[in-house]
Order: sequence, then C-alpha cells, then structure tokens
Amino acid sequence: MQNSAPTPGAIARVIIDRTTDREFDYRVPEAMLDRIVVGSRVRVPVRNRLLSATVVDLPDSSPFEKLRDVDSIAGGHPVLRPVLLRMARWMADYYCCPVETAMRAVLPQVIRDSAAGHRERLHARLLKTPDPGELAVIEKRAPRQADVLRHLLASPGASVALTVLQKKCGASRAALDALEEKGWVTTQTETVWRDPYGDESFLPSIPLTLNGEQAAAHDILLAAIADPAGAKPILLHGVTGSGKTEIYLQGLQAVLDAGKSAIVLVPEISLTPQTVERFKSRFSSHGVAVLHSHLSGGERHDEWHRIHTGKARIVIGARSAVFAPLDHLGLIVVDEEHENSYKQEEAPRYHARDLAVLRASMEPCAVLLGSATPSLESYHNAVSGKYRLVELRNRVDDRQMPHIRIVDMRMRSKKATAQVLSDLLVAAIGQRLERSEQTILFLNRRGFNTSLTCPACGHVCGCPNCSVALTYHRGDGRLVCHLCGHIERVPAKCPKCSDAGIKYAGTGTEKVEDAVARIFPKARLARMDADAMTRKEAYRETLGAFRAGKIDILVGTQMIAKGLHFPNVTLVGIVNADLTLHLPDFRAAERTFQLLVQVAGRAGRGEVNGEVFVQSHTPFSPAIQFARQHDFAEFWDQEREFRAQWSYPPFSHMVLIHLKSGNERLAEFSAETLHRRLKEHLPPDVFLGEPAPAPLKKSKGQYRFHIVLRTPRILPLSRYLREKLAALTFPEDVHVAVDVDPYQLL
Ligand code: ADP
Ligand code: ZN
Repeated sequence: MQNSAPTPGAIARVIIDRTTDREFDYRVPEAMLDRIVVGSRVRVPVRNRLLSATVVDLPDSSPFEKLRDVDSIAGGHPVLRPVLLRMARWMADYYCCPVETAMRAVLPQVIRDSAAGHRERLHARLLKTPDPGELAVIEKRAPRQADVLRHLLASPGASVALTVLQKKCGASRAALDALEEKGWVTTQTETVWRDPYGDESFLPSIPLTLNGEQAAAHDILLAAIADPAGAKPILLHGVTGSGKTEIYLQGLQAVLDAGKSAIVLVPEISLTPQTVERFKSRFSSHGVAVLHSHLSGGERHDEWHRIHTGKARIVIGARSAVFAPLDHLGLIVVDEEHENSYKQEEAPRYHARDLAVLRASMEPCAVLLGSATPSLESYHNAVSGKYRLVELRNRVDDRQMPHIRIVDMRMRSKKATAQVLSDLLVAAIGQRLERSEQTILFLNRRGFNTSLTCPACGHVCGCPNCSVALTYHRGDGRLVCHLCGHIERVPAKCPKCSDAGIKYAGTGTEKVEDAVARIFPKARLARMDADAMTRKEAYRETLGAFRAGKIDILVGTQMIAKGLHFPNVTLVGIVNADLTLHLPDFRAAERTFQLLVQVAGRAGRGEVNGEVFVQSHTPFSPAIQFARQHDFAEFWDQEREFRAQWSYPPFSHMVLIHLKSGNERLAEFSAETLHRRLKEHLPPDVFLGEPAPAPLKKSKGQYRFHIVLRTPRILPLSRYLREKLAALTFPEDVHVAVDVDPYQLL
C-alpha cells in the first residue's frame, strides 16, 4: 500500500451519517486544512451525492489511493467533543453495534442536521403612533391592521413577535407588510431561545445545614471532586427521605465554585417539574439546562447550544444527558441509579449509569450514584471495592421510616370492593380523611379489569397481534391491547363457546378508583396513569392540585411511585404487590423489592409518621418481607446467593439476542441457524442457551425468539458476536438485535 497524501492532517477519516460500520477517508483541501478538526461536521461526496459525516480522525496518511475531497464544512465549529467520540467507539465495541449507531446517540439528530438552526422569528415594532382618527380610517379599510396597531400601542417601544400577534389578533404576515409599507411599523427577525421552563419563576433556595451523615457523605464527595483521578465512583445508598438531593446540590455548588460543570441524570419518569424546580431554584434558571425526550426539536436544539457554548453549566436530564457537550466536567450525578429507564431499549442499547461511570473515568471527573434501593450490579461493585459505598441510614430530622404492614389477601371477604381494598386499608383511608391527611394508592396496572374470561370454556380475550390478554377499560367500554393499541368492542358472549356468562377478572387503576369512590363518595379523588394523563399539562396540574391539598386520595401507576415529595401524605396503599413478583425475569424479586421500598418511601415525609399497607397473595415472599423491614442488606444477602448459583448478573454479563419476524417458522429457523453458527468457535467461559420462544411470544404481529448468553468477560463475546453476525445473512423479514446487559427479558 502506498501513502498517497503525506501532508500531516491532510486526511479526514469520517463516519457518514446513516451508514454501515465503516469509516471512510477523504482528502482535506488546502483551504480547509486549518479549519477541520476531529469532531467537525462535513459534507462528503459518495458516488454522485453529498452526504453529512463526522470527522473522527485526522491521520497523516491513508491506506487508500485516489481519495476524493471533502466538499465542505457544515456549521462553524466542531460539534463532537473528543471524549464523546471515545465514548461512541467504546459503546460500539461493548454493546456490539455499528459506530454510526453509537454516534447517533451522542449527537442529537437536530444538531446533526445543520438545517435546524436557531429559531428566527419575525418581530414588529411601532414606528409612529396613530391618532384615533387615523386608526378609524385604517379600521374601515383593513380591520386586521388596525387590530395590530392597537396591540402594539398597548406596549409602546416593545417588539412583538408575529406569532404573538397572530394569536392575539389574527394578524397575518401580509398585514404586517402592509403596515410596514405605510411606515407605521418596522419588522425584523430576531433569534429567540426556546426555554421549556421560560414562563416560570423559581423561588431561590439556600443550602441547608447538613446533618452528621450528610456531612460525612459531602466530605467524601468534595474529595472526589478535588481529585477525580484518585477517587472511585461513589455509591450513595440513602434511605428514602435521607436528604440525598441536598448532597447533590451542595456537590454541584462546589463544582460551580471550582469553575467546572456537571451533569445530573434522573430517570425520565421523575423528570417532573418538582425535580427540575429543586435544581433551578438553587442555581438560577439560566445556568441549568434540561434535556429530556419530550422537548420539541427546537427546544432540544436550543438547550444543546446553551450547553455547548457554556451558557449552561449544569445539565439535568434523562439518560441521553450523559452525552451533554460540557467542557471541564467536574461531577456526574446519577439519581435513582437502579432505575431501568437508564437502559435504552433500542440500538445503541446502552445503560446511562454505566456510561456515566465510563465518562467520569475518561474526563476524569467525580461520579456519584444515588439510590434508596441500589441495583445489585452497583451494590456488588461497592461491596467488592470497585465503588466507594457511602450510606445514609436515617431520614432527615430523625423522621421515622414509614411503618409497613403486609395484608394477606388470601383471606379476603366476598364483598366486591373488598376484593380490591382490604378492610384494614379502607379503615386507614377513612382515618386519613377525618384528619385531612392524604393517601396514595398504588397499582402498577392501568385499565379497569385486566382480562375478560369465560367461566364455561376458560377462553381469555386476547389480542390478535400479541400474545397477551386484552384489558377492559370501562370509561369507553372497550378492550384494549397495552402493547400494540389494538381496540375492540366488548363481546356480549364468549367468542369461542358463545356462553353469555363471560366475566371480568383482575384489577386495574380504574377499578381501584371506582372502589374508592363507592366507599368514600365524598372524598376528592384523582387518578394518574397513562390513560388519565394523555393531555400534556394533566400531569403537572394533577400533581399541583395534590400538593395544594385539593385532592385527598391519589390513585396511580408507577407514575406516582418515585421521587415525589408530599409532606402531607401519611398513608400509602399498595393494592397488589404480587404483580412484578412472578414475571419470568431473574430480576423479578429485585424489582419488587425496589418498587415496594420506593412507593412506601412516599409516606411520612412530613411531621406525621407514615403508614404503608401492602396487599399481597404471597405475603411471605422474601422480597416483600425484606421491603417491610427496609432491610436492603438482608435482601442482598439472600438474592446474591440465587444470582451466584445461576451465574446471573452481577456475577456474569448477559447477552440477549432477539429474533423476530411476522413469519413464525422463519423466525424459529433463523434462531436455530444462528445458534448453530454461534456454537462453532464460542470463546471460552461463554454459556450459550438454546434458542427458545420469548416469554412474550408474539408482539405487534411479530413472532419473537430469544438466545441467551452469559459470560464473565463481555468484550471477547461482543467482538465474537459482531464477527459472526456480520458473516451471516438473515431472510429479509427477520429482524435480529443484540442486547448486551439486557433489562427487558420478556
Ligand atoms: P431523598 O432524596 O433522600 O429521598 P430528599 O433529598 O428528598 O431525600 O430530602 C427530603 C426532605 O428533607 C426535603 O424536603 C429536603 O429539603 C429535606 N432536607 C434534606 N436535608 C436536610 C437538612 N440537612 N436539614 C433539613 N432538611 C433537610
Ligand atoms: Zn396487541
């Protein structure tokens, strides 16, 4: 091979958007030499088209001859930080995906498409003031124009956006042009920053005096911030209400004081106004950028640029915020680090907590993982000395942990409402109503009933596209599939045997709401689940009303399980603790434990002690018993034995290969073929399971098969899988995906 271009930096190695796993070399024209850097976005010729690409390297030479030239540089400055590029490469390797797929995660689409720029809006300002006579003349010929003038008159000197004028007085672009022509107004475009929290003001909050446990944790954090290279990741295990957030806040202050920046990751579900407010109140609204999946493209673009240009030095966001383009990173906080929503369920299937630890080691910066119920992965790392374990065993101000009582539902009475709410729980709710305290009732299943079953033949109304039962929603009297959205009418008799006695079974949130309304007709009641919260503002409004004491009882799904802080909630009822316990997933016990402790943690966060009722048909299962005692260490002790025995994570890495197809035979056949090929040169110590139908056999019309692998060392396996998969071709309508460290096992 010959070096065709020996000039230093004369080659740009690029990854082209939306392409394969390859990198391509282009020649850098003389004129661009001093402007192209690693991370630049460029346009390059591919056959007869120009495509967008990211420069990932600037080697002195290329193994290829006859290189084509880079066409142009897109955007003025490099957009991809070197550390993010390194993360993308690491992800590709670890998660067994193309580098381009990983790059897609680190650089949001709106930034990659240079087309999406800052938002320019047309503004109008009054040039001269019409007197009433003039206004009347205009009114007669062009009432719209008169409206605009009147509106501008109300705020003299101000420039008002056309969009505002449109909303307020139906003004059009044409009306403005006409007014400008006649010399009444002047128009110009102005850049506006889209701030999703723009119209809110935040009361400033001041640092609290830390208690002993908090102060000890704070000192350890400060030391890590001062010397990140010498510090381990910190696992902050603090019971609910122990004041973890205050430790984050004071850590962030230290980072700002040192002139550095920070990222706070929170689960998407707890990125509530309440959470954001706690950070914005402490650090002023402007210095804090918020990133999450509900931002519009424009909002995301603007927040990204605020971060990129150093205007915001604290970023709070869901998992993708781990890629925030900050310089001088001093700290990454991962709140509720055990949350599954940190795992991305589409390629690249990364885990944001793990990437936070990775990024922290690359920067280097301090990293703090916080939870009342740490993941067993992180806890294992702490116990084995990879992380530093810091514990907060007490609630602030010596508040008591809520008292948890398990209600055995196997001995329930025949009353219809008693099938949903036990007498004990009903009595407790009644007391709260008398004392004007608030209650949360939690059930992780929406709808009214969970299925429609025929007592004569046992038929369960299932979804035609998915292997799950349809859920009965009473509000609109229909059966709904929660996976694919399929809707059908409730049949009058069994579709299979025509028996008219077809019956509803199981309980969803709607039925809980209904039962509460029957028992306590005067109570003010609200429900929060995906069905009740379809309006964008509903979530915020309902939480606001609850906080203001306008709601006595709040019924909801996991939407209300975590992170919320309502001092007047003294009772939490968990309607059915068994739901997560019997899933075919090795984490079922861990999830149940976490959910119970987290939901219970919503109670007793104020002056009055909290009480929790856990209704269950398996009251003696260890996850429920240990949650009752708030005993994480005991739970860990017994769960680790099970994990170690079967070499499940955290004692191994797991890889799940999904195969799916609309054609069942084809999916199965492909799974068998892949399995045979994987067996051929399997790296040592790898366990390869047999191909099998997924627990959820069919979803959205697709038949699903799984192959599970386990290994003590992931990288050799990831590389092996990548090689094998690249060498295999699957039938066109078979879709294959590799999930490293999977969390979704159904
Ligand atoms: P966690 O995140 O551990 O569940 P929070 O950070 O939400 O706990 O703290 C619970 C409550 O205690 C909050 O209202 C918080 O303002 C308050 N708090 C935290 N630290 C202190 C402190 N040192 N002194 C007084 N109140 C505190
Ligand atoms: Zn379905």
